[in-house]
Amino acid sequence: MTVPTGFIGLGNMGNPMAGNVLKNGYAMTVFDMNRKTMENLVAAGAKAAASAIDVLKQADVVFTSLPGTPEVEDVYLRPGGLIDSAKPGTTLVDLSSVLPSTPRKLEAAAKAKGLRFLEAPVSGGVTGARAATLAIMVGGDAAVLEHVRGILRCIGPNIHHIGPAGAANTLKAINNMMSTVNACAMMEGLVLGLKAGLDMKTMADVIKQSSGNSNALARVERALIPRNFEPGFKVALMNKDLDTFNTIARTLHVPVSFSNLAQRYQQTALAAGLGEKDTSVIFTLIEQLAALQPAAPAK
Ligand code: NAD
Repeated sequence: MTVPTGFIGLGNMGNPMAGNVLKNGYAMTVFDMNRKTMENLVAAGAKAAASAIDVLKQADVVFTSLPGTPEVEDVYLRPGGLIDSAKPGTTLVDLSSVLPSTPRKLEAAAKAKGLRFLEAPVSGGVTGARAATLAIMVGGDAAVLEHVRGILRCIGPNIHHIGPAGAANTLKAINNMMSTVNACAMMEGLVLGLKAGLDMKTMADVIKQSSGNSNALARVERALIPRNFEPGFKVALMNKDLDTFNTIARTLHVPVSFSNLAQRYQQTALAAGLGEKDTSVIFTLIEQLAALQPAAPAK
């Protein structure tokens, strides 16, 4: 039997994740402050709520997929927010990428009210969210994970219990640091190759079979050749994830380097007003630094 489920935050990730849960037969109530994001889900059978709190009236398990710590802490912890208003026994699962201190606070506040809480940041991008192939990193009580495992299974097959609240967002920040460092290094390499007269697709095809291969090369055909920089994963969100990584590093006195180099590019993109573009837009900034004339987008 499926439990009534709610979803708050229906952006690039939340929308396809909610859609996949809905497709698996769960009664679904949705809310996003941008009402347009609810339309396709309502057309597919979800119920639109008037507010985040309204979702609680309809659902026993409520997921959130919000930009970051400020939004998550506001939605959960403000007076009259999710934790104040949920009926005892409700399970709240935050899929957002946030500071590890956030799930620790939310779990304690939720338990004090007789609620269940899990952090469950995800990885795999919008492509993985649409295909229901996300990796899900879970922090919190293992028993709560078992309670919602069936629903999580609708958004991704790789569900990992990492440890207590905060552990999953620590791992998520490490993953995103590594993924963006790979991507920035890949884009610097390709710009150098283009300036040397090499062909972008040839470079990508050969490096995919060589020791420089990484997931970052998937951007070549998805974003760089068509020059499609719509998100995807927004620069502002990656900048936030590098802030998280650097905050953890400072707290633990780990002298990290590469996250700072990658964050210089995110900061440059933010300064250029590109915060809402996909992180692949950094390619255009590297082109400018190299005084490389951009190629016309492929047809
Ligand atoms: P997004 O900006 O596309 O979506 C966020 C949604 O939250 C928006 O629709 C916004 O209107 C809504 N929202 C904001 N504040 C709200 C509030 N108070 N109440 C209700 N709705 C509110 O972001 P996204 O790319 O979907 O990312 C969501 C989370 O997932 C972030 O923490 C991000 O870091 C993480 N993430 C993103 C990706 C990716 O590839 N995009 C991959 C893995 C993890």
